[in-house]
Amino acid sequence: KSFRKRRREESEEKEEEEGKVLGNYEIARLREEARREYLKRRESKKVEEFKEQVEFELSRFEGVKLTEKEEVEFRYKKELYKLLNTTWDDVGCYKIPDAYDREGGVDQRKRFGVGKERYGDGEMTRERGKTEREAWEDHQAQKATLRFGSKNKKGVYDGYEFVFDEVARLVETCDEVEAEKDESRTVAERGKEDRKMLPIYAYRDELLKHIEENQILVIVGETGSGKTTQIPQYLQEAGYTKRGKIGCTQPRRVAAMSVASRVAQELGVKLGHEVGYSIRFEDCTSEKTVIKYMTDGMLLRELLIEPTLGSYSVIMVDEAHERTLSTDILFGLVKDLAKARPDLRLIISSATLEAKKFSEYFDSAMIYPIPGRRYPVEKLFQKCPEPDRLETAIRTVFQIHQTEPLGDVLVFLTGQEEIETAETKLKQRMKDLGSKSSEIIICPIYSNLPTELQAKVFEPAAKGTRKVVLATNIAETSLTIDGIRYVVDPGYCKINSYDPKTGMESLLETPISKASAEQRAGRSGRTGPGKCFRLYNVKDLEATTVPEVKRANLASVVLTLKSLGINDVYHFDFMDPPSDNSLVKALELLYALGALDAKSEITKLGERMVEFPVDPMLSKMIVGSEKYKCSVEIITIAAMLSTGSSIFYRPSKNQQYLADNARMNFYTEKAGDHIALLRVYNTWKEMDYSSQWCYENYIQSKSMRRARDIREQLAGLLKKIGVELTSNPDDLDAVKKAIVAGFFPHSAKLQKDGSYKRVREPQTVYVHPNSGLFGAPPKKWLVYHELVLTTKEYMRHVTEMKPEWLVEIAPHYFKLKD
Ligand code: ADP
Ligand code: MG
Repeated sequence: KSFRKRRREESEEKEEEEGKVLGNYEIARLREEARREYLKRRESKKVEEFKEQVEFELSRFEGVKLTEKEEVEFRYKKELYKLLNTTWDDVGCYKIPDAYDREGGVDQRKRFGVGKERYGDGEMTRERGKTEREAWEDHQAQKATLRFGSKNKKGVYDGYEFVFDEVARLVETCDEVEAEKDESRTVAERGKEDRKMLPIYAYRDELLKHIEENQILVIVGETGSGKTTQIPQYLQEAGYTKRGKIGCTQPRRVAAMSVASRVAQELGVKLGHEVGYSIRFEDCTSEKTVIKYMTDGMLLRELLIEPTLGSYSVIMVDEAHERTLSTDILFGLVKDLAKARPDLRLIISSATLEAKKFSEYFDSAMIYPIPGRRYPVEKLFQKCPEPDRLETAIRTVFQIHQTEPLGDVLVFLTGQEEIETAETKLKQRMKDLGSKSSEIIICPIYSNLPTELQAKVFEPAAKGTRKVVLATNIAETSLTIDGIRYVVDPGYCKINSYDPKTGMESLLETPISKASAEQRAGRSGRTGPGKCFRLYNVKDLEATTVPEVKRANLASVVLTLKSLGINDVYHFDFMDPPSDNSLVKALELLYALGALDAKSEITKLGERMVEFPVDPMLSKMIVGSEKYKCSVEIITIAAMLSTGSSIFYRPSKNQQYLADNARMNFYTEKAGDHIALLRVYNTWKEMDYSSQWCYENYIQSKSMRRARDIREQLAGLLKKIGVELTSNPDDLDAVKKAIVAGFFPHSAKLQKDGSYKRVREPQTVYVHPNSGLFGAPPKKWLVYHELVLTTKEYMRHVTEMKPEWLVEIAPHYFKLKD
């Protein structure tokens, strides 16, 4: 019997057995309550005593005919009793008991031997010592070992050293995966079936009932249970789209795009018609759209245009646990909006424990837990992490590939750059291993990955091959990739951090939190038992991540709030209030830019700046260009700076000097990087937007096309606020002045030792090695686009300027020394 069929039957039986007396929801709630009680008792170490008490209370019900109320009480006690006999893992992981847990009451630790952490149960046959799957795997492993020979004692496989000291198993194919692929059904049929297989399906009707009855509902469910893709569809089926759109926010652009495309596929409609998405600079929706996925930032922008969100009947703030800055601001705004619009339904959905906090914030909104499925995950870890994380991760991938049964691998890396390096290294290593290694398919996924390639990560690996997904944090909760059996987790992620004292903003590679570590490990146990290889010691981690609102530059959201008429930002209903200092900094900057007046109210200039979906300094530069009659040039530069990926292509070592030479052609005036970007764009345009030209000049044509797209939108917005497009191609000073008009807080002066010092801030900064001005005769004064912190504090995209301009452009910010 296929695994899925077995699952389905189990779930149906389960419903028959329990569903009639109590709904699934009630059971889930009882379990959740029981779990809390249990955790409380465990903390006070009185579990045994409590167990006895429950046992006694349970015995009272024996052989007695129960009233309805007693029946509920009995169930609750039974659940509690089950829990008391289960061992929960100690890492603070959030786990609702498996919906399919039939017997409960097994000490997992005893079963698997002390020291190896396992949790959940999955499709185990408990009576025997081994699961069917394990027995089968052992059998296959023996076969394979005979065929391939075994590794030597030290864990070295033909000169290849393993990271983890685990017994090797080699298996060629995994029949189970094959059995699941039934070619006879059409894609649409499969889609329908798949939808019913998701854990959330069992709770569909109850969920809809609670949404109808509660204006605000907090939904908590394990990742992959179907919240993001299914809830909007259920709502549509229930008729909510007759009253307005269903909006669902995501913290990440890739998630919004990929989930929308999945839902469109499930519904059998074209993406952008009934189901669409909206992310910055890209709107894939139409008149027809009723289910709209969007980034949280985009919903904030929609609020500016439509403050009551009148065209929506439901707003679902998804991935609330991520606590991005935009999500946090949305919380405050939609909470308020709910009072003004009783017909609007609000759903806050999250993958982790914080549910209680959300519920409290939303005036004790109801919490609806959705039990997920989780198979046991075995966690291996390194007591003493090795310094080269990437190298260790790659070695671990190969260890898995050579010693573990087939099944896909998910590697968590920090960003595009690291992913690209890993991809190159993996490919090289595969070549070196030659025919000994069966095929590995590498699938990167990060937020700037082109759409065509994003879909690839969801395609199942071909027979006999292993998919290795190299992902950023995005695969932690936002995206669920089926078929992952192994997770390699180096334990780092990139978070943005802002120091209000220096105004320094940077992306930092930081150790993840314990909560994240749990989520990441869980990714391997979704469709079968999994293994997680941690390249760190979980004891070294912090419990949770600090919400972004406490570590971000607030200028942009403060301006948004002001534009929404929320003048008193200090008393905005923040779930976690930011420090006063960072609010002061934001207000100061906006005042300096002229977006706020002395009374801290938004100015006309501020209102115009808000129209642009970019940071205040950049929007000031754009709006400010009107004065210098160079808006054509400025929007080109702004677009080139907003592509999110690099314009220049860095080839392999032996061709690098060619690329550098090609690049320097755009620096004829030696004025700086902004001007060079302008030159690149204009030449590309003269060449009729030719890809061939890009190729010859070591320029990424993809980034260029995106810049063109963004540029068009910026031009449209300028028109909207009534600024004429004017060009001033011969007056470079005008262009530079417009840049300074937005970026004067980012000005720096040359020091004797060749470094720079920020004007008004006691901070030493350096020209980024990627800049065209790096290594050139130094300019005395520079304005820069952003600071990045790697080995040093580097200014990225710098352009020369004159100090007189500072006083001319921002007299309230700079004064001449007497
Ligand atoms: P949750 O939001 O509860 O984490 P989702 O609704 O995102 O769960 O995922 C439910 C299922 O849909 C998962 O099995 C996942 O693999 C699948 N899925 C989601 N997006 C895609 C996609 N773009 N392509 C293929 N499958 C997808
Ligand atoms: Mg989701």
